Amino acid sequence: MATSASAQLSKAIKQMYLELPQGDKVQAMYIWVDGTGEGLRCKTRTLDSEPKTIEDLPEWNFDGSSTYQSEGSNSDMYLIPVAMFRDPFRRDPNKLVLCEVLKYNRKTAETNLRHTCNQIMDMMANEHPWFGMEQEYTLLGMDGHPFGWPSNGFPGPQGPYYCGVGADKAYGRDIVEAHYRACLYAGVKIAGTNAEVMPAQWEFQIGPCEGIEMGDHLWIARFILHRICEDFGIIVSFDPKPITGNWNGAGCHTNFSTKSMREEGGLKDIEESIERLSKRHDYHIRMYDPRGGKDNARRLTGFHETSSIHEFSAGVANRGASIRIPRSVGQEKKGYFEDRRPSANCDPYAVTEAMIRTCLLNETGDEPLEYKN
Ligand code: ADP
Ligand code: MN
Ligand code: MN
Ligand code: MN
Repeated sequence: MATSASAQLSKAIKQMYLELPQGDKVQAMYIWVDGTGEGLRCKTRTLDSEPKTIEDLPEWNFDGSSTYQSEGSNSDMYLIPVAMFRDPFRRDPNKLVLCEVLKYNRKTAETNLRHTCNQIMDMMANEHPWFGMEQEYTLLGMDGHPFGWPSNGFPGPQGPYYCGVGADKAYGRDIVEAHYRACLYAGVKIAGTNAEVMPAQWEFQIGPCEGIEMGDHLWIARFILHRICEDFGIIVSFDPKPITGNWNGAGCHTNFSTKSMREEGGLKDIEESIERLSKRHDYHIRMYDPRGGKDNARRLTGFHETSSIHEFSAGVANRGASIRIPRSVGQEKKGYFEDRRPSANCDPYAVTEAMIRTCLLNETGDEPLEYKN
């Protein structure tokens, strides 16, 4: 079986060097989404003092022709720092810096979906939109097979694994624990974790986050997960259906509320949003994975706690619907609702922007979908 060369290196020896004092310098790791819209890239620079706010961080650049982001002839792209976190790998005072990407002419790069999302969030700031996203993912060995599964076959059928405990039920908890603590250290708004229905599949929740913060915190949480898994020699997959057949897929349920939904009688506003969503199903499916719905078509079958990709549905406590109103929200007549359609590999900027456009800006209309599952 293939192994990760880096994961085999002694982490104890590495730690000797990481304990060396770093003087008055600070390491800032700049992170950005690459041209695939899914992959993350990073590189580090030394700063002369600890940055206190995002304004203290200099712009930077990179070679976009090596990240599927530009042609070779005009390959310099700009990195614009937009959010700063504590670095759980190099620790204080070092930083993780999330960046937007601009092209050589300083126009927004095609895969920089943060730019328009941020504009929309600014327009609607007075509604105080909150999001919570439930990121499901699958751990794979270096051979691309789910971590801990027998190499030539399958574990026992689904049933005992969801929120499971024990060596035969929880596959890879070390990763989950390391990631949870690293997110807390970094200042990422992680709300919780649980083991999922398929063995080696897990979930973490980010939120509630207001506006653009949702996408920023989810992307950094994904980066931290990839980086931790690199140390362990494990691969993270956000594929929405990593194993075909009778195994659950992976989504990124998105919980949403506005100030008025959270106040007394807010259920009325929730129902109005759901009504608007019901008339714009195809547009949302297009925004909910990086291939315009093709990835999600493998997952949204109507089975395994999903709704069919071809129809919109909503209901209280219904986990087979596109939209679920939690039972407690139905009872209290205020709170939030959950859109269960986004794929695990969605861009949270695209998802949250689409929700604001439909639910709050009351945008309508779309071309029909043209693929089948
Ligand atoms: P589920 O029951 O669907 O598995 P989870 O507990 O996994 O739900 O996730 C619920 C998510 O909803 C969390 O990310 C949480 O931060 C978020 N959330 C809670 N209250 C609100 C709210 N009022 N508005 C938006 N998101 C919320
Ligand atoms: Mn959940
Ligand atoms: Mn889940
Ligand atoms: Mn959910």
